[in-house]
Amino acid sequence: MSVIAANLQAVESDIAAAAQQAGRTASDVALLAVSKTVPPATIREAYAAGQRAFGENYVQEGVEKIAALADLRGDIGWHFIGPLQSNKTRVVAEQFDWVHAIDRLKIAERLSAQRPAGLAPLQVCIQVNISDEASKSGVAPAEVPALAQAIAVLPNLRLRGLMAIPAPADDPDAQRRPFAALRSLLDQLRQSGLNVDTLSMGMSADMDAAIAEGATLVRIGTAIFGARG
Ligand SMILES: *Cc1c(COP(=O)(O)O)cnc(C)c1O
Repeated sequence: MSVIAANLQAVESDIAAAAQQAGRTASDVALLAVSKTVPPATIREAYAAGQRAFGENYVQEGVEKIAALADLRGDIGWHFIGPLQSNKTRVVAEQFDWVHAIDRLKIAERLSAQRPAGLAPLQVCIQVNISDEASKSGVAPAEVPALAQAIAVLPNLRLRGLMAIPAPADDPDAQRRPFAALRSLLDQLRQSGLNVDTLSMGMSADMDAAIAEGATLVRIGTAIFGARG
């Protein structure tokens, strides 16, 4: 078995264990393999091992890999998870299946307008600044309900839920707090009538805490592909 296949298997079994610990079903937690800086040949190895969803942070790097793996296009879900500037929305609207880090209405409006007819709606999440750090990107929690309502009516997007990258914390309780806050924000959106189902939260270092608090999609790079250079 390749190193990548073994790593994937280990991550899948960690997800299953964390889900079980939380009284959840492993199949309710999707694994997004974060492949930034990872060459196409290595992504192919992960694909051969059964992985089907990949996350990229940089527009140019992402589209180059989508092109290099065009033969697998119909079978892979490509997620754009990095910050997105308005002058780069077109290629993302044309090439990706998901965008996780929407942080203002203007970006969502452009993505909707630029999504080609004939493609499924672009699946999107709002990035929330859940740890309230001045340096981190994302929308303040208080602004999420209004932004969500505005995005939900855009014709070529489908609002799926919320995403966050909390400040790093070592102890499990401190890790869980911001994830719990994101979950309650998603519950609030549901109670207001929005049909949202996705909590994109948890990375290699805090995946268990995220799953304990209801993550439906974990974004894992290092634990699958090794440390980035
Ligand atoms: C790089 C990255 C990840 C993966 O982080 P790891 O610690 O390598 O698992 C997840 N989400 C986002 C937004 C990232 O940029």
